[in-house]
Amino acid sequence: MSNNIVIAIDGYSSCGKSTLAKALAKKLHFIYIDSGAMYRAVTLYFLRNNIDLKDHEQITDALKNIHLNFHSRDYQTHITLNDEEVSEEIRQMPVSDNVSDVAALREVRHEMVKQQQRMGRSKNIVMDGRDIGTTVFPEATLKIFMTADPKIRAERRYKELHEKNPDITLEEVFENIAHRDYQDTTRAESPLVRAPDAIILDNTNMTPDQQLQFALDKVNTNK
Ligand code: C5P
Repeated sequence: MSNNIVIAIDGYSSCGKSTLAKALAKKLHFIYIDSGAMYRAVTLYFLRNNIDLKDHEQITDALKNIHLNFHSRDYQTHITLNDEEVSEEIRQMPVSDNVSDVAALREVRHEMVKQQQRMGRSKNIVMDGRDIGTTVFPEATLKIFMTADPKIRAERRYKELHEKNPDITLEEVFENIAHRDYQDTTRAESPLVRAPDAIILDNTNMTPDQQLQFALDKVNTNK
């Protein structure tokens, strides 16, 4: 295989995109990049610094002070925000509740897309997100668009979050997913939409292994 293969995995919130992307990257010895973690880390910075989402100057200045870095250990995403490890904190509800508003900002998207494109240059990568196959890498080698029943998605995410935060409710998780889906699909700037050449993967009734096999089959037919 050549050394600039990009596999783009897009789809709705809590569809298991990162689980599949990590497994695929591991199997193919590619680099895995979680683009959502970048929007989450920016959101954490904005929350901590009370950035006004209507003040474009404040947003642009804030972006200049944000330095993100990935450190991959065994295909788990470790992201630092100005050298602070924030991987756990960016998964908590305060960030989840605000990330779609931050990710809808044009300035934020332009900066993140630029950084993501740089990360994919001359490398074999699997990147997951919302606009990878449409905006970040429209020429990606393989595009997968993931979807699943919203109730199943909420149950899966609830199980994950509940282990760390017993106070969380299934309703809260369901609401958050529905809100993010709505925001992500209706925003003006690169909304979540299936690229015409993306293969749909509905994993409502699929195990992670079946999803990996599905994706590997597509990689092989694309060779
Ligand atoms: O993938 P994850 O659910 O962690 O992403 C968090 C949020 O970041 C999404 O709900 C979406 O608003 C935003 N996002 C985005 N574009 C991407 C990745 C994530 O707008 N490529």
